[in-house]
Amino acid sequence: MATLFDPPAPIIAPTTQGPGFPVRRLFCIGQNYAAHAREMGATPDGSAPFFFTKWADTVALSGTTIAYPPETSDYHFEAELVVAIGKGGRSIAPADAADHIYGYAAGLDMTRRDLQAQAKGKGRPWDVAKNVEQAAPLGVIHPASETGPMDAGHIGLTCNGDVRQDGDLSDMITSIPDIIAYISRFYRLEPGDLIYTGTPSGVGPVAVGDHLIVTIDGLTPCEVRIGAPEAA
Ligand code: MN
Repeated sequence: MATLFDPPAPIIAPTTQGPGFPVRRLFCIGQNYAAHAREMGATPDGSAPFFFTKWADTVALSGTTIAYPPETSDYHFEAELVVAIGKGGRSIAPADAADHIYGYAAGLDMTRRDLQAQAKGKGRPWDVAKNVEQAAPLGVIHPASETGPMDAGHIGLTCNGDVRQDGDLSDMITSIPDIIAYISRFYRLEPGDLIYTGTPSGVGPVAVGDHLIVTIDGLTPCEVRIGAPEAA
């Protein structure tokens, strides 16, 4: 059928294998490292994980410049391991989770921290804090057949060359198999879905001109620059 306007092109993330990974949806786990939960004022208590979502078109590919967004004066970086789902499923058992993973990438869960704090204080949704244009930078996806399980290894972030986050994947509170099992209780996971698995401690604000690099053992780094706010 003719359309009134062009439908949006899908975001295609590069992979080390050649064919691109068409992005479908983004799920993001909150407070998945104890030291980060504490720096957010929470007390990790072993309760169920929680997650929020971002639109697929919030993905910004590594190597690009992302605009400082409007309506915030405290835009934060959060370095995260991203799981790329290659095979769909509902109510996936943790023991079967590996079958549903295509691969892994380094990424960022950029956050309007000031709006998130306001939302928390009022018991309101986090959408305007988290679901922000270009707020999900993503590096090259490596297939799991190349990386093996990503259950340990260094994850870090530098801002303008200074180390700001320095953690280990083994410190995740909810493991990747348990994350996949949990999300798939609520939604049928589909190929193209991305799961941002939470950030270690050390999150902080960015300024226009900053250069962020996320490094994770075994993966291609994800790097972005913070650009000037978009013109109205
Ligand atoms: Mn996060």
